[in-house]
Amino acid sequence: MDFAVLASRQAHELTGWAAGIAAAAWILHRETAGPYQVLALATVLTGYLGGTAPDWLELIPWRKGKRWCTHRTITHWVPMWVALLYAANAGLGIHWWCGPLFGFAVGGLVHLLIDWPNPLGIPILWSRHSLNLWKSGRADSFVVAACWVAAVWICDRLIFGSVHFHRALAIFDLA
Ligand SMILES: [Zn+2]
Repeated sequence: MDFAVLASRQAHELTGWAAGIAAAAWILHRETAGPYQVLALATVLTGYLGGTAPDWLELIPWRKGKRWCTHRTITHWVPMWVALLYAANAGLGIHWWCGPLFGFAVGGLVHLLIDWPNPLGIPILWSRHSLNLWKSGRADSFVVAACWVAAVWICDRLIFGSVHFHRALAIFDLA
């Protein structure tokens, strides 16, 4: 597979997986309510779904190729995804479904991060902003690689790093 010619959708899919894995590391790290290992697996999947969500949420399911809103408007609105991430994170350990929801939000935010440098940009608060770095699909190989490096770094830190430290602290808390 030639990474240089990847379409943007594929970049969103590949980075969605990375987002899901990083979010799952957070779920494992937090040891949230219920069977958190299973939830972590679900989080990988919802991360992938979230990675493409801002684009497929624009589509009308029963009308092929038709959008109910303009491309990169409401479904790409940064505060909405940040709020979702915040709410899901706050609910970890209380509601089991907040884990997968957290993955979905991370995936969505990574999607926005990837759309940001494109000339069309994304709606940040009230107005649209673009980093104007490259055209859609031009830097996909770099973007995908950067996301995976970040995901691996986060996993290492959260799963193999300070997690044992926090477990030890938890034991002392119980004692
Ligand atoms: Zn998009």
